[in-house]
Amino acid sequence: MLGAIIGDIVGSRYEFANIHTTDFELFTPYNNFTDDTICTIAVADALLLKESFKDSLLYWCRKYPSPMGAYGARFAQWVHSADPQPYHSFGNGSAMRVAPCGWLGSLDEVLEAAQKSAACTHDHPEGIKGAQCVAHAIALALGGSSKEEIRQIATQTYGYDLSNSCEALRASYSFDETCQGTVPQAFICFLESHDFESALRLAVSIGGDSDTLAAITGGIAEAYYGIPADIEAQALTYLPKEFREVVREFQHEVGRK
Ligand SMILES: [Mg+2]
Repeated sequence: MLGAIIGDIVGSRYEFANIHTTDFELFTPYNNFTDDTICTIAVADALLLKESFKDSLLYWCRKYPSPMGAYGARFAQWVHSADPQPYHSFGNGSAMRVAPCGWLGSLDEVLEAAQKSAACTHDHPEGIKGAQCVAHAIALALGGSSKEEIRQIATQTYGYDLSNSCEALRASYSFDETCQGTVPQAFICFLESHDFESALRLAVSIGGDSDTLAAITGGIAEAYYGIPADIEAQALTYLPKEFREVVREFQHEVGRK
């Protein structure tokens, strides 16, 4: 799940200032964690404490109400509601926070947790599908599946079209905060990558919702490649101590790192 957080940090400064190159500095004073990280921490913490995803998301998001890039407007309303209810969203928020679910034991557990982690807000079928597909890919990568096997699950089981290339996306893609307009693009970036770092660079290079694209791509890439120690160390410097504690505990308790 740290891969998703690193992707969020790396992509953060490009969310509203897209670039279309893989040649950029990963970590600068202008990077920070955003809502993707806070929600990923909340999902991981819910799994650790065996509490509901809804309660954990409310706890962490209320504690960090104004992240870089801000929360989506409807999600922010949900966070601050007196009686938060799912709002049928198919935004990419369900896919950007789901990575910890991919690290659970069996595929049944992975898919059930992914469904539940999405459904407290993103109960539209596309919102659930995006979360489950990303968690499924993480579980497959951790289990030693090839990229071709991961591609086939995404296309055949989930119906995503992965026929585009990063080069074509760089020319044609624009900001899209839906699951169905983010998850396939993140998969394409992962499938074209050759290591963890190149996956993040490709995800930023296609433009769009850069922090979330890099978070989704990074979560899958971590499971497939692992994370270089220097990148992990630099990313951790951006996180509050209590986030680092959740990451460490998750890696120790759940992550078969
Ligand atoms: Mg964000």
